[in-house]
Amino acid sequence: MTISISGTGISRGIAIGSVHRLEKGEVDACQTAIPEHLIEDEIARFRQAINTARQQLKSIRNRIPATTPADITDFIDTHLLMLEDSLLTATPIELIREHQCNAEWALKIQRDALARVFDEMDDAYLRTRVDDVDHVVKRIHRILVGQTCEEPEDGDLQECIVFAHDLTPAEAALLHHQGVAGFVTESGGPLSHTAILARSLGMPAIVGTHGIPYQIRDGETVILDGAEGLLLAGVDNMTLAKYRARQQQQQQRACNLKRLTNEPAVTIDGVPIQLLANVELQEDVEAARIAGADGVGLYRTEFLFMNRSDIPGEEEQLQQYLDILNALQGLPITIRTLDLGADKNVSSHASGERISPNPALGLRAVRLCLKHKELFRPQLRAILRASASGPVRMMIPMLSSARELDEVLELLAVVKQELNQDGLAFNENMPVGGMIEIPAAALTADLFARKLDFLSIGTNDLIQYTLAIDRTDDAVTYLYDPLHPAVLRLIKLIISAGRANGVPVAMCGEMAGDPRYTRLLLGMGLEDFSVQPTSLLEVKDMIKRSDIASIKATVDRILQQDDPAAILPLMATIGATPAA
Ligand code: PEP
Ligand code: MG
Repeated sequence: MTISISGTGISRGIAIGSVHRLEKGEVDACQTAIPEHLIEDEIARFRQAINTARQQLKSIRNRIPATTPADITDFIDTHLLMLEDSLLTATPIELIREHQCNAEWALKIQRDALARVFDEMDDAYLRTRVDDVDHVVKRIHRILVGQTCEEPEDGDLQECIVFAHDLTPAEAALLHHQGVAGFVTESGGPLSHTAILARSLGMPAIVGTHGIPYQIRDGETVILDGAEGLLLAGVDNMTLAKYRARQQQQQQRACNLKRLTNEPAVTIDGVPIQLLANVELQEDVEAARIAGADGVGLYRTEFLFMNRSDIPGEEEQLQQYLDILNALQGLPITIRTLDLGADKNVSSHASGERISPNPALGLRAVRLCLKHKELFRPQLRAILRASASGPVRMMIPMLSSARELDEVLELLAVVKQELNQDGLAFNENMPVGGMIEIPAAALTADLFARKLDFLSIGTNDLIQYTLAIDRTDDAVTYLYDPLHPAVLRLIKLIISAGRANGVPVAMCGEMAGDPRYTRLLLGMGLEDFSVQPTSLLEVKDMIKRSDIASIKATVDRILQQDDPAAILPLMATIGATPAA
């Protein structure tokens, strides 16, 4: 019998593979009395579980290619180190003896005691390391209760479709490195950073399925259709053949688009469009070059800070920027300053912050950086120093007021002075731009345009904040609408403010990479697009088949509509669909 599950398709493409459930749920550690004569057996069981946990982690570590960035591997190393620590290996044994209890319970008591110690620490960063303790404890608990198949032993995750309750961006990156074909999560929204990463990695994925039936067993072959947000299990051979044929067609289409790689992105009526790439991980840079990007329009530096137990210092950041600059072989790069917070793992990095009651509206991005200059200053120094070696631009996220921008520019001036005093080279005229992604900034875009060298529209957050929909909450995904008149008017306002002040305006939100919106944006006057490397050629194809002069009148009509329902039929008349 075929089982079909629907969710939000967040990354297009068809994946066919065998199921691998990542989470087996929490282990309910109950206390059981162990008779005295069996205590040594219980201790042996615990020791064995620790050994198995080590083997599992080492096996994952060994399967990750050597080229994998350190940020992906560091957290595995941290967990391995914890498995050598007597607090997790020896103390539970003492507790088994002392309480004459089972290993699961002893481990739970020790976990709770450690959590209390972490909780009392002054250093908020160290306080958050309890997350790592929890990961390791969970792993040992699962082994103790017999859930040993969390990671396949030898055969890696090649061609697997991973099922999970939720995935962090870092976990998604790791799965990609392990060869996973696609993933399905019960929660999550289309604009979460996990979703963005999945698109960037070209991994078909579905989120927000609200449960995954247990009738679908590990190892069973399933079909994941990322465009339709559909997962099919228990399919017959005919269905399987149909989807394999579709998968081939998509691969063929991607192959055909490659012919555009070295062609300029120019519209039919001769308007040259700049097509840049968004990158998160080092490997995206290669993908951007292969896709023929004109440079990098958004480098999300926060990914360098994730999945690790320390904060990268100035030298490490500089080296990373130089590596990317090198890989770009002379193409420009726009380095965005840290946008930690909200769904980007702030818990492990915010220096001293309590957990925000509403992280998307809390101390995120430039707000966090201005509050914690010890985090910001090394990054500003590293970006400036990188600018001595190539075409580097700096971009500030989440600006909400001109005062905030002034504060950044003042700090930048101080950092420049310090670098001069230290005798370190940098480009005195490094262009500085800002992301316009908060309605307040969009409405006052002219203020920012007067003080900055370029603007870039972050539609992911602009839509989130304009429509008051948490981008990670699948319960409000249905309200996510790039065509909402309020969103369109704000975008138009930003483009016009840039024009009026002679400042280029780019768009680096996901809307820029969706070919359904390319003509609309061209008609609104957008000439700089920064998109995922995986959608770059689709967007280029649309640009090359567009005649701005002939769509302009319809786009103006779209912008005048108050009723969102009236916009879709007008969109259809500008042929806003990618070529089949
Ligand atoms: C955006 O908000 O559109 C954007 C590009 O930034 P991020 O998705 O990293 O918040
Ligand atoms: Mg943003």
